[in-house]
Amino acid sequence: MTPMKQYYENLAQTTIKNLKRRGFEACYVPDGQAALEICKDLLTEGKTAAIGGSMTAEEIGLMDYLKNPEAPFTFYDRYSAVTQEEKDALFSKISICDYYFMSSNAITTDGQLVNIDGTGNRLASLIHGPRHVVIIAGMNKVCPDVEAAYKRVKFTASPPNCVRLNRKTPCAATGVCGDCLSPDCICTHTVITRRSNIPGRISIILVGEDLGY
Ligand code: SF4
Repeated sequence: MTPMKQYYENLAQTTIKNLKRRGFEACYVPDGQAALEICKDLLTEGKTAAIGGSMTAEEIGLMDYLKNPEAPFTFYDRYSAVTQEEKDALFSKISICDYYFMSSNAITTDGQLVNIDGTGNRLASLIHGPRHVVIIAGMNKVCPDVEAAYKRVKFTASPPNCVRLNRKTPCAATGVCGDCLSPDCICTHTVITRRSNIPGRISIILVGEDLGY
């Protein structure tokens, strides 16, 4: 095992202990393929699933798996809705789905989740609704405390996300957060999840790789 892998595993065990103390389920896997296999095992026949925007899910192959038309589960693809009526109907189904997959913008070593969203649909599902929330996060998302986590989102996650989404924001142009209020801003809601109110409703799969932003 490389020193970096050993470091990630050690840090993950500390973080998992603190996540469990706060009512989260948590585990560590060495790579994205192993994380994908856990997700596949959850998605048995008849289950319903949805996902919040996540580069991590793209990178580990979860998006492709969810979109497989021959899968035995039902995937509510939020991008499939066009009209407002279709979007309303889809989001009402997502709000009661069995498994909602997402990443977290940051996770603190003392077991808190830190996320910033533009529209807030991802964070609405994290907070309330879907029966289970499954978070897949590379160890690059783990930060020493909430302040460091917030800075990570604003300076490491949001700028490349704005570039990816072709947003007209200061960070997309300069690489540095300009604390903007522009119509294209993706930093509307900041949510710190310090515990799972329903024990075990939120599960975190920490992955011993750098994934997502
Ligand atoms: S507040 Fe604006 S400039 Fe700052 S990270 Fe968010 S989108 Fe970028």
